Amino acid sequence: MALRRYTFRLYPNKTQERKLFEARRLHAYLYNACIAHRRFEWKKNQRTVDYFQQQNCLPSFKKEWVEFARLHSQTLQSTVKRVDLAYNSFFQGLRGLPKFKSIRNYSGWTYSSKSGWKANTNGRHGSVTLNDLGITIKMRGQTKSWSTPTTLTIVYKPSKRQWFASFTCNVSVEESKFGSLSELKYESMVAFDLGTATAITCFDGQEFEEVSNPRFTQVAEKKVKQESKKLRRKRAPNRKKGIKASNRWKKARKLVSKLQRQVASQRVDWQHKVTSDIASRHDIGVTEKLNTKAMTGKAKKRRDPASPSGARERSSRQGSKRKRQKAGLNKSMLSVGFGTLNQMIAYKIEAKGGLLLQLNTRKIKPSQRCPQCGAVHKNWANLSNRYHICDNCNFEIERDRGSVLVMYNVATGRMNLSGNPTGQPLTNQQQGCGTHLLDSGCLSSTSLTSKRKHTGSMKQLGQFI
Ligand SMILES: [Zn+2]
Repeated sequence: MALRRYTFRLYPNKTQERKLFEARRLHAYLYNACIAHRRFEWKKNQRTVDYFQQQNCLPSFKKEWVEFARLHSQTLQSTVKRVDLAYNSFFQGLRGLPKFKSIRNYSGWTYSSKSGWKANTNGRHGSVTLNDLGITIKMRGQTKSWSTPTTLTIVYKPSKRQWFASFTCNVSVEESKFGSLSELKYESMVAFDLGTATAITCFDGQEFEEVSNPRFTQVAEKKVKQESKKLRRKRAPNRKKGIKASNRWKKARKLVSKLQRQVASQRVDWQHKVTSDIASRHDIGVTEKLNTKAMTGKAKKRRDPASPSGARERSSRQGSKRKRQKAGLNKSMLSVGFGTLNQMIAYKIEAKGGLLLQLNTRKIKPSQRCPQCGAVHKNWANLSNRYHICDNCNFEIERDRGSVLVMYNVATGRMNLSGNPTGQPLTNQQQGCGTHLLDSGCLSSTSLTSKRKHTGSMKQLGQFI
């Protein structure tokens, strides 16, 4: 059994939406009141207020502020709990000091048990009834597996102006087929690498497969640029000077954000399609561990040692060229969404009982290593070097395909973890190669989960703080 979250889009009518907004406003007030309470007690009396003290205040609070009495008591408690979680993660050094939240951007509230609401659905569309507000709202969405949900969170996304219902369900999941990691079969294994020329390159032991880059952002970017230019020509608000935004500016801004939203959802759609396809066809994924933050960092400066005199001008020109190149690369890396792709493949492959191995990039250097003899070529690291010919064994291969092949060889045991060929012949099954990979510091996506930090009970609330 595993706890899964399923989100449905809500379609409230006008009266219902008014009630939802009203409830959201009250919860935001309560959230801010709890923060104010803690701050006040600390400043005046150097006293820390904990969750239970605040929870015990709720009945008298409701007597004073009667509008809160209509809301389900557990939703109020969970809002108080949100404050507690925010403070807990602050005390653990995971976050900054909790701030007051604006009502406009406040996200929503949670029903922390099965009481007070009802989901009228069998996992596909339906409606949800909120007893405290006395409304039944239509909802759309579908899930792969569904059981009686245990908690409900109502979420409002101000940027989209949409409401969502997010349920947690205890659903039965498939056990991992690779519990012992000893039965890794070659035919179900796929090595893949994320690139920019081709978004994903796969190798399943038989043939290469390339998923081309969608480039939709580049197309959409032109449109966004045009529209934001129009936006800049209209009267923007300026608080200091007391200038109000013109209606034409407001209208133009709406259009720009709509276009940006469209690009974002196109990207998510594409990512889901591609990753589902890979995960559905293979049981084991092999890839390199990504450090997207470092990869999409600024370009490094490089000194020109050959010409000390007049080098400044030259290197600065080169530097700006490198900068521009890196910026373009970053854009195309971020537009594909490298980090998310790996995560998506990981959870999709695990959902069907598979495994994702993440190899240590620094040790193996897949993009610089010859897949046949294992020699490392430093000059292969340059991204403009699209086609690799090994000067050691004359093996030649396309850049992206080469690194995928190296990873496949490592995972199947034909290369050891420092990238040297083991001379092992290709058999259909290799005993214990998975264990060997994990022992040597390779991460599987499952092994990562134990390192996550949690800030307390009611984990499902944690992500809404
Ligand atoms: Zn070679």
